[in-house]
Amino acid sequence: MKIQFLGTGEAFSDRANTSILIDDQILLDCGPTTVQQLMKLKFDLERIEILYISHFHADHTFGLPALLVASQEDGRKKDLEIYGLGGLTEYLSNLLYLAYKKSLTDLGFEVHIHEIGKKEEINDYEFSFGRCKHSIPCMSISVTKDKKVIYTGDGAPTRETITLAQNSDLLIAEAYMEGFKMHSSILGAARLAKESNSKSLALVHICRKENMKRVKDAKKIFTPIIVPADLDIIEL
Ligand SMILES: [Zn+2]
Ligand SMILES: [Zn+2]
Repeated sequence: MKIQFLGTGEAFSDRANTSILIDDQILLDCGPTTVQQLMKLKFDLERIEILYISHFHADHTFGLPALLVASQEDGRKKDLEIYGLGGLTEYLSNLLYLAYKKSLTDLGFEVHIHEIGKKEEINDYEFSFGRCKHSIPCMSISVTKDKKVIYTGDGAPTRETITLAQNSDLLIAEAYMEGFKMHSSILGAARLAKESNSKSLALVHICRKENMKRVKDAKKIFTPIIVPADLDIIEL
């Protein structure tokens, strides 16, 4: 599996918003900077078949209108499957109308919105979900095809997240800041990696004010820990 970090930042930082591309066809979250990152790669947007939205915060969703309209301008014909929590259809319709006065039905390609259940099988991938603890509902996702990759989305881990992440090959965990109840942290992500018996941990969504020295402390709890830069690739 090819994992590309389009962005690794929190909501407000000099990094692009956290967004992850798997095997050049599955996009996890789409913040305001995501399309620009794809453009830097000269990436053909039509290759994106599946889009997952972890929760309805702007740094994870406000790139959606740009992605949809840029795809339309590129002449996309292929259907796009979008997965997310209940209310996604209304949220995305409102966002698209506000941004470009467009609706999901006049893009020239089909957008199918799926409100997620416990498990989905799409193409050769298996997707599972687990609720984490954030200021609004948020779901962590596991994507499995030979290897297992977890993306926590935003939020502190719960029992569901620990179960979801069991034996993952790569745990991509938000590590916002110590002491925030509704977010995880660098040390919290390391604990999650250890408790879930994951094989490797990539830290994303670290608060711009956070002290990166904590990564050293986190390595006493779990290794290996990677702090990817924007556009970095991990091959599993
Ligand atoms: Zn966020
Ligand atoms: Zn959030």
